[in-house]
Amino acid sequence: MTDTTRTLVNFNGRIVMIGFGSIGQGVLPLLRRHIGLAPENIVIINPDPGPEPIAAEYDAAYIAEGLTIDNYRELLSRYLRAGDFLLNLSVDVSSVDLVRYAHEVGALYLDTCIEPWLGSYVDDNLTPSQRSNYALREEMLATRRELGDGPAAVITHGANPGLVNHFVKVALQDIARDLGHPLPEGQGQKDWSRLARDLGVCTIHIAERDTQRSRTPKDVDEFINTWSIDGFYSEGLQPAELGWGTHEKALPADGARHGFGADAAIYLERPGAATQVRTWTPQAGPIHGFLITHNESISLPDYLTCHEHGQVAYRPTVHYAYHPCDSAVLSLHELAGRGWEMQSRKRLIVEEVIDGMDELGVLLAGHDRNAYWYGSQLTIEEARQLAPHNNATSLQVTVAVLAGLVWAIENPAAGIVEPEELDHERILEISEPYLGRVTGAYTDWTPLTGRGTLFREDLDLDDPWQFHNVRVV
Ligand code: NAD
Repeated sequence: MTDTTRTLVNFNGRIVMIGFGSIGQGVLPLLRRHIGLAPENIVIINPDPGPEPIAAEYDAAYIAEGLTIDNYRELLSRYLRAGDFLLNLSVDVSSVDLVRYAHEVGALYLDTCIEPWLGSYVDDNLTPSQRSNYALREEMLATRRELGDGPAAVITHGANPGLVNHFVKVALQDIARDLGHPLPEGQGQKDWSRLARDLGVCTIHIAERDTQRSRTPKDVDEFINTWSIDGFYSEGLQPAELGWGTHEKALPADGARHGFGADAAIYLERPGAATQVRTWTPQAGPIHGFLITHNESISLPDYLTCHEHGQVAYRPTVHYAYHPCDSAVLSLHELAGRGWEMQSRKRLIVEEVIDGMDELGVLLAGHDRNAYWYGSQLTIEEARQLAPHNNATSLQVTVAVLAGLVWAIENPAAGIVEPEELDHERILEISEPYLGRVTGAYTDWTPLTGRGTLFREDLDLDDPWQFHNVRVV
């Protein structure tokens, strides 16, 4: 286990960070603490000059400019050389274009989600499938096939996607151990997918409950969140997306397949911010979360698929079930009522959080012990003690960025990799000191618990874990 002071790896190149919002500001102290770097070797490129004093606190050079499709090559060419690290923590900048550029230059790369250029998420000339994370991932996978070997480019490595992909492997091992099931000998895709199949895991929720709050309640015409409001807005207005498991009996009436690519996931013809699902976390108990699209809902079911005789024999249903902080729930409610027109004011709460916890983990269901949640319970007080410029939500992300960055420096020729392809033990060893209580818990809760008595609901009583039962609206 690493501690929270030690240098984890030395890096001779320069880190060029794109974007300096909640995640960029939160990761900077961790970079200074854990990466052996020359003082002049951090450069931040961010269009908003506001956070420059935080960059100065950590001796980082600050370039107050934004990347666009027209200027990004010229702008990056001023700072990025072979052997450097391009750390993309921005919104509205194309991940695929930056991955290509880093590959060309010979620089390492990491991002926390696959972003398109500004506006694509809400471009109504595009179909829901074209606006999906599924399509963005397919574009990235095609880029990987085209570019082949090259410098490490770790894509989608924050908390979720990122940490949670690794939590799934630990949860599978825990369930196997507790059921007396043999553990796989290897650590490859086939080993993990067979283990999930043999344990009977049919559904995986990324189950998150954020209870952080500010003393100042949400005002009318204001959007509050504990991380990027622009990022949450964009993904909330993408179609709801989920990995579609082989145990599911019927596609939802508003569900559709993409008709191209890996086919591990479907989308719903409605925004994730208007789609709710039932889930469970240890502290909160049963909750309703939003089915916001995320890359892990697509990469995990793809990774955990078993094929037999060229056919898909097993795949779990996988989706996010996100209960954001209470003020964000109210903000989403107001936003939906306004026909998805963003409120005039946005408030990202970091320093002003007075209490609360981010409980973020994975709920694996359908096996002989019913359901098992494994993840991080991090309070705001713990987060503040561990690192400046973070709240509980951002710290779960920023430590995963740090861990992914260390992994890329240690594996510099890995090419383009998704979280499933990293060494989960190395990532968790680096991350755990920053995650508060990391724990697992079984539950006998199912989406049928407490239902079917007060109202005549259309439930599938034979299989509690049908998506039909999980879905609220
Ligand atoms: P934020 O909104 O707080 O900050 C985004 C930053 O990008 C801002 O500093 C903004 O000025 C900058 N930016 C905007 N346009 C730019 C441009 N054209 N060129 C350069 N910079 C530009 O967002 P955040 O909370 O810091 O999140 C950053 C990214 O990380 C987002 O893509 C978000 O979706 C993602 N994220 C991932 C996870 C995860 O767990 N995987 C969690 C949180 C955030």
